[in-house]
Amino acid sequence: MRTPLVIGNWKMHGTVAEARALAGALRDGLKRPRGVEVAVCPPFTALPAVAETLAGTPIAVGGQNCHWEDTGAHTGEIAAPMLADLGCRLVLLGHSERRREMGETDEQIARKVAAALRHNLTPVLCVGETAEERRQGLTFTTVEGQLRAGLVGLEPAAVTRCVLAYEPVWAIGTGVNATPGQAAEVHGYLRGLLSEVTSKEVAQRLRILYGGSVKADNADALMAEAEIDGALVGGASLTGPGFIAIVRKAARGAASRGE
Ligand code: PEP
Repeated sequence: MRTPLVIGNWKMHGTVAEARALAGALRDGLKRPRGVEVAVCPPFTALPAVAETLAGTPIAVGGQNCHWEDTGAHTGEIAAPMLADLGCRLVLLGHSERRREMGETDEQIARKVAAALRHNLTPVLCVGETAEERRQGLTFTTVEGQLRAGLVGLEPAAVTRCVLAYEPVWAIGTGVNATPGQAAEVHGYLRGLLSEVTSKEVAQRLRILYGGSVKADNADALMAEAEIDGALVGGASLTGPGFIAIVRKAARGAASRGE
């Protein structure tokens, strides 16, 4: 019912030459990915090279962030129309590294989601609790607050154009992934919430990706969960074989569930 989506977040890694080589490896290794959609989000500096390398392939290119304004005096920022101009189709928003390091607020993230939608970019809204919040039993409260705030003011039709990513902060870059059960529980909660703020139909259509130390050797178990509609992959997306293996496992997981 929901085609899985696997997104590689390359973060602040790689020269243009390295990004071009990685994109080339994905282009050659994923000629006709079946039953799965694939995207990569390179650093801004590598976007033109990666977009050029992947032109004409089914692999989409996205940005790792954008500003909420379309243009203006915002030194060091990148606007949604600039990403669209480079051929981007999606943009990661509200990643926990940006919330933590740049102090991004829910309100700013909501404005970024709106900006992305204005320029026909798919916003990938990231939500997730810290280890401390989980310890205190605040996981649902945290993700609920981030979800409601990130989508505030959007019509159901606009929400359908978004993708959600559940990324527990304690699992990002730590090598400790959420168990499939832990992830599925939060995904189920988020889908219930989406149903409340939009409709059951919208909630059933929206993809919720899991992110946090996804690797080839845990992808099978995570992707076997009916509530997990793909992955947002950081570290393991930096090598062609590792990322390709995850993409194949996501496709297999969905196929084995009859999707
Ligand atoms: C991420 O940055 O979104 C992420 C999930 O990173 P990693 O896969 O390295 O945990």
